[in-house]
Parts: sequence; C-alpha cells; structure tokens
Amino acid sequence: MNYPEYDVIVVGAGHAGCEAAAAAANMGSKVLLITMNMEVMAKMSCNPAMGGVAKGQILREIDALGGYSAIVTDKTMIQFRMLNKSKGPAMWSPRAQSDRMLFSHEWRMMLEQTPNVDMWQEMVKEIIVDNGVCVGVVTNLGISFRSKSVVLTNGTFLNGLIHIGEKQFGGGRAGEGAARGITEQLVSLGFVSGRMKTGTPPRVDARSLDFSIMELQHGDEDVVGFSYRNIDKPKKQRPCYITYTNQEVHDILKTGFDKSPMFAGRIQGLGPRYCPSIEDKINRFAERDRHQVFVEPEGWDTVEVYVNGFSTSLPEEVQYLALRKIPGFENAKMFRPGYAIEYDYFPPTQLNSSLETKLIKNLFFAGQINGTTGYEEAASQGLMAGINAHLLINGKEPLILSRDEAYIGVLIDDLINKGTDEPYRMFTSRAEYRILLRQDNADIRLTEKSYLLGLADENRFQRVKEKISKSNEIIELLKKSSILPELVNAYLVSLGSAEIIQRTKLDKIVCRPHVTILGLMQSIPSVHILLQEYEKEFIEQAEIFIKYEGYILREKEMANKLHKLEEVKIPASFDYSTIKSLSMEARIKLDKIKPTTIGQASRISGVSPADISVLMVFMGR
Ligand SMILES: Cc1cc2nc3c(=O)[nH]c(=O)nc-3n(C[C@H](O)[C@H](O)[C@H](O)COP(=O)(O)OP(=O)(O)OC[C@H]3O[C@@H](n4cnc5c(N)ncnc54)[C@H](O)[C@@H]3O)c2cc1C
Repeated sequence: MNYPEYDVIVVGAGHAGCEAAAAAANMGSKVLLITMNMEVMAKMSCNPAMGGVAKGQILREIDALGGYSAIVTDKTMIQFRMLNKSKGPAMWSPRAQSDRMLFSHEWRMMLEQTPNVDMWQEMVKEIIVDNGVCVGVVTNLGISFRSKSVVLTNGTFLNGLIHIGEKQFGGGRAGEGAARGITEQLVSLGFVSGRMKTGTPPRVDARSLDFSIMELQHGDEDVVGFSYRNIDKPKKQRPCYITYTNQEVHDILKTGFDKSPMFAGRIQGLGPRYCPSIEDKINRFAERDRHQVFVEPEGWDTVEVYVNGFSTSLPEEVQYLALRKIPGFENAKMFRPGYAIEYDYFPPTQLNSSLETKLIKNLFFAGQINGTTGYEEAASQGLMAGINAHLLINGKEPLILSRDEAYIGVLIDDLINKGTDEPYRMFTSRAEYRILLRQDNADIRLTEKSYLLGLADENRFQRVKEKISKSNEIIELLKKSSILPELVNAYLVSLGSAEIIQRTKLDKIVCRPHVTILGLMQSIPSVHILLQEYEKEFIEQAEIFIKYEGYILREKEMANKLHKLEEVKIPASFDYSTIKSLSMEARIKLDKIKPTTIGQASRISGVSPADISVLMVFMGR
C-alpha cells in the first residue's frame, strides 16, 4: 500500500508531540502524528496540574507563540491560583489544576480540528536514514512512512522500566507498554543515551477520605487563566485539601526501605532532586516529623484523588498501610499504587539550538527524551521542534529564542550547551533576566514572532500592539499628571505610606509600595476620570513598568551588551585544536558542542572568560 508522504512525522502524542504536530501543521506542513495509544493523547502522567513557578511563564509563552497547551488548560481547569502574588511581578506564576481526562480529550479534539494533521496509532520501532538525513519511520507492523523530517518525542517510554518495591516490569507509564528499538538504533548510529528516573504517588478514592479534618485550599476568585485568547473560564472551582504525614506514617514507610528499588540500588537512573519521593524525604530530612500532603481532585466528576507530596516506589502494601495513618486517610481505599519509572534519554548537547540533532539531518528531539521533566518543558520544546522542522524543510532560518526573550530560550540554551544529568526542570533562578521574562508580558515578547511565522492571526497581533500603545499612553499620562496632597494623602495613610507635602507626579506615587493604579482610581475621582477608558490589563502593564522601570532598563542594557557576543559568529568548521592558548577542557567542550557564536561559547560549562578572550582575538582576525 502506498501511504502518503509527509512533511513532518511526529513520534509520540505526549505534550511535546501534540504541540509539535499542531505547530508544524498550522504553519502549513502535512503532518503525521504516530502514537502508541490515541486514547491518552497529552496525558498528564503525574500531577494533573499545569503551570506554577517558571512553568506558568512557559505556558504563557507557548500561548503567545501559537501553541495549544494554555488553551487546553483554560478549557479544562478545575482550580486556578496566581502564585507568589505577595512577591514582585517577576515571580507571579499562574497555576491551574485540570480535569485529567478532559485535558487529554480536549487536546485530541483540538488536533482533530487542525487541518493537515493525520494520525496513526502504533509503535515506531526505527527511523529511516538516507545519506545522513532522516526521511521517515518504520512501525511495529513494518509500515514505512516517508517524510521530509521527523520529530521524536518518546517521553518516558524508551525502554521504560516500572518499579514497585521489589517488582519491576516494562512499561512507559502504568498500564502502557515500553517503546523498544529506537534507543538501540540511535546508539548504533552514534548517539549517546543515558538513563533517568521519575516517580508518582498513589491515587485514592475520595469517598473513603475524611476531608472535614483537612485544611481547605480554595482557588483565586479572579481566574486569570493562561491563554491571551478569550477562553471562557470556569464559573465554579473545586477546592484542594492539605494534610500531613506523621511519625507513625514514617515508621510504616521505613519497614519497606529494605525493599525500596531506590535504596537497594535497583534503580540506576538519576531522579529529580527537587521532587523527592516520600521515602527520600524521610531519609534526607530525618529531623522533620511531618511532611505536607496536598489532596487534589483529578477532575470535575471523578472520585479519584491525587496524593501530591507522597510519591513513592515502596511495596504497594507498605504504601497502603502508611497512607491510612495520615489524618483524613484512616479508611482510604487505594485506586493505584505509586511507582517509579526508569527510561532512556539522549543528552541534549547532541542537538543544535533548533532542536535538530547534530548527527542526523532533519531529525529533531523534543520533550522528556532530552532529559527534561514536566509537561510545560516538554510542550515548549515540542512547539519549537515543530516550528523548526517546518522552517528547515522550507529552507528557512530556524526560530531561536534568546535568553532575554523567553524562558523557552533559557531552557533550550541550557540543554544544548550545558546538558543535564538529572531531569531538568525550569526554575526562575535559571534565568538571568527574570524581570523581563514575566508571565504578564509573554504576548508582548513573542506574538510578533508567531505572527510573522503565520501562527498568530491578525487579531492577536493587533491586540498586542494595542496593549503596548495603551500601556505606554498610561505611563505618559501618569508621568505628566500631578496630584495635590489633600486629594491623595487619605489613600496613602490608609496604606501606611507617608503623606506628601506638595503637589507630586502620579508616577512617583505609583512607585510606592502597596500603591496601585486601580487603588488610586477607586479613591480619587480625578485619577478615575483620567484613566477610566483603559482596560485593567493595560493598567496593570503600565503599573509594573513604573514600579520596576529601573530594574527593567538595567536588565535590557545587560542583555544588549551580551547580544554583541551573539553577533560574533564561529564557522562550523572551526578547528579548536589549533588554538593552544585555549584550556584543554575548553577545547574538548567547544569541539563537542560546536557553538555557532561567541555568546553561545561563553555559556558552555568549562569555557572560562579567559578562553572567550582568546576566541575573540581569533574571530577578530
Ligand atoms: C510516573 C511518572 C511520574 C512523573 N512525575 C512528574 C513530576 O512529578 N513532575 C513533572 O514535572 N513531571 C513528571 N513526569 C513527567 C511528565 O509526565 C513528562 O515530563 C511529560 O509528560 C513529558 O512529555 P513528553 O511529551 O516528552 O512525553 P510523554 O508525556 O511521556 O509522552 C510520550 C508519548 O510518546 C508515545 N510514544 C513513545 N514512544 C513511542 C513510539 N516508539 N512510537 C509511538 N509512540 C510512542 C507515548 O505513547 C506517549 O504518548 C512524570 C512522568 C511519569 C511517567
């Protein structure tokens, strides 16, 4: 049978694969999305939550670039909270819990409605390489699908091995088989692979829990959401609950330590340090007599509950007995035990900044296969790989985001230059330009790019232009207008702020802690009249700029200086071994990574400022 030839084949319909398929198709590529099980597309393997610190920013960036993850989250959320509202705006981070089943369903519906996406349910066992170029894949049934490019997004499935106590069995996720063949083939082609691990907690039946003795955690009244598009937000939300482990729980868990796959050394792969299992927490923080447990519903209607903070791979009977000693869990019925999973990944230093592999042309890797963890990290790489696969086969330059443009830029730059030997998760601390990379301005930073790629439509682009011009207007108005003490002092005193003694410019008042433009508008009729025509979103944007202007300008200046290093290109054929004044470590690393600019070279671990000075002299010549 003659199957059609595709522009882009995406292997795996997880968070990375779904975004990759949508992006390439929306840009005009003919896409085939092949996945092992079409019932669970974009499945949330672990916590049914999107966003959070730094991850919320990534989700908004995905949205600004034309991805779907934020829309799906808005459509399926059961609770929304803006985290870190008490801190500066660089730290404000949207987080939502979604209905797990609805999330998967909604993603599939969106892909089904995306023209140019064909789907095929099967396991891909190898890629087809012709003269160093990837030109398709072969499935388990022996079908060869041909294409101009391939994006691999296999997640935790490559030779996945699940551990529960002393039991271990092959699987990519509980209830789903592992993917075999691809790792072995890629290694035979010269790729280096490694092993990582992650884990998940047990799920329990809400009907068997006593919520009355747990702390309640409600969502925000103001559901901001993630997408800059106008998606209906839920009218009601579901609460979460908080309870705690205790010494009795810890003692029971300890009885299973001798059977723990982690402690017994059966798990070889490295797991995420910042997301430890409950046995790890008890072991590492022995002085703590309790740990927080977040009790989170898995959806609107289901009684299944996610026990956040209780990730474990101890024997299932130990999990069960320990759970029942947690206040509120005395009669808990378990639906599924927690488990750990080991899987293959490919150190991401084997990739170019477009996410194309250095070894095989037209082959891209995205998501957990690159050593990352998290839905947002995976989705953003998938989006970039989908965009860049389309650009490559159309002879266009790749889309590369810099570190001052997006967390996605930080993520990819870190991966390809520094690599990672433990699951890489995004933190705000990884970004140098946090005040530039806020969740409120991802549309300002990125919409023009997605518009030029054909992903954002005219309306969205116009809306962003309006946001920029209106917030600038507000800033100008506040810089020009001043206010008399008798009009503003009552408001200032109510906030514990010092009174003014003479007419003062409004922007200076806005700079004060606790003062907000909306607060001024509510308290002072003349300010209300001045700004009443502006939308809340534009006012908030202007306020952030006024309050943080000094920091914003300083970060922009630093970023501009560093951009100069990005302009100094290094030829692909450059032979580092000829420069004896480079340190040995720098020569090895530079030769391995082959940076395309001095800026990129400066971010490779092991390349010192002295090495960069040497390189600058050579490039100058
Ligand atoms: C047990 C567990 C616990 C986790 N815990 C956390 C956590 O606490 N925090 C966190 O941030 N993240 C966690 N994760 C990771 C999170 O699920 C992933 O980061 C994210 O799902 C990765 O997205 P992805 O698209 O790269 O891969 P996945 O979501 O794993 O999707 C891969 C897709 O590819 C398909 N596939 C694989 N191989 C083939 C093939 N050869 N042919 C066809 N289809 C194929 C699979 O069927 C699947 O649909 C956990 C994952 C697991 C499994």
